[in-house]
Amino acid sequence: MTKLLFGKPIVDEMKATQQLRARKLAETGTQPTLSIIRVGRREDDLAYEGRVVRAASGVGVCVLVAELPADVSQSTLLSVIESSNADSGVHGILLFRPLPSGLDEDAALDRIAAAKDVDGASAVSMVNLYAEKKINLESADFFLPCTAEAALRILKYYEVPIVGKKAVVIGRSTVIGKPVSMLLLSENATVTIAHSRSEGLADLAAAADILIACAGMSVRGADGKLRGGVGEEYLSPNQTVIDVGIHVDDEGNLFGDVDREAADGLVSALTPVPGGLGAVTTQILLDHVITAAERI
Ligand code: NAP
Repeated sequence: MTKLLFGKPIVDEMKATQQLRARKLAETGTQPTLSIIRVGRREDDLAYEGRVVRAASGVGVCVLVAELPADVSQSTLLSVIESSNADSGVHGILLFRPLPSGLDEDAALDRIAAAKDVDGASAVSMVNLYAEKKINLESADFFLPCTAEAALRILKYYEVPIVGKKAVVIGRSTVIGKPVSMLLLSENATVTIAHSRSEGLADLAAAADILIACAGMSVRGADGKLRGGVGEEYLSPNQTVIDVGIHVDDEGNLFGDVDREAADGLVSALTPVPGGLGAVTTQILLDHVITAAERI
């Protein structure tokens, strides 16, 4: 039987402590505040923004949204980031990406002050992540990319053995693939990072004790339905699978990178989509905002 690793119990635990921490901050006249900078109106950005606003209101975090037109100039974007950096009432900054083509995303991310970089997206935050030999999720003095941290928190919450285990990460983006690989390495897993040019990927993946599916892989099955592209040939018994992918099928339902029909009953444990990693990621973002406010 496949155990489903739901995010809800982790979110509930985090919420309870976050409410207390935000209340304590309120007593000193501080409301933890996140500035979201959104360029254009991409549907997935708007959906994520809605989830962050809802979750934030549940724990006493204020969210300010700066909406910029899709054709905003680089200099205007940078000046909006600079004003959030300079605003002492803003404790965290989240710049939605990918930015429209024509904008220099790295330059924009690097402009976010390290103390407010709550999604660990700037080069300074990345250097910390890659240079550190041992990263302690509870006491790192820089912010980790939220999705990567969520994957690790789920593994730890459900007491999945990591030390010495074979972990395969499908995907090498700076948003999730690379940072989650560094976190697994820091936890003493033996990590393989796979990508679109990897040969023998299915065999590599099937040999993993921990499989992190973060490639954005979906396929249309013989029945004409969209499903996760990580099918039976990538999976094996005794495997824990963290499904990071987010896709929407023709009926508007969410699904992940993993083919649920193939995985159910085959792998040992799996994060469902929806219901797995996504909500944990959002709650970690809020945790970072509260931590940033506490540090000030
Ligand atoms: P991305 O920047 O497009 O990166 C995708 C990575 O996967 C690339 O490294 C790519 O390889 C690799 N890849 C793509 N197709 C592959 C294939 N068929 N076989 C092997 N590797 C393949 O995407 P991303 O931003 O990392 O996001 C990945 C997925 O995670 C998306 O579905 C996204 O929606 C989801 N996501 C979820 C959360 C969450 O909180 N749950 C947060 C962020 C992203 P190359 O480098 O060779 O091109």
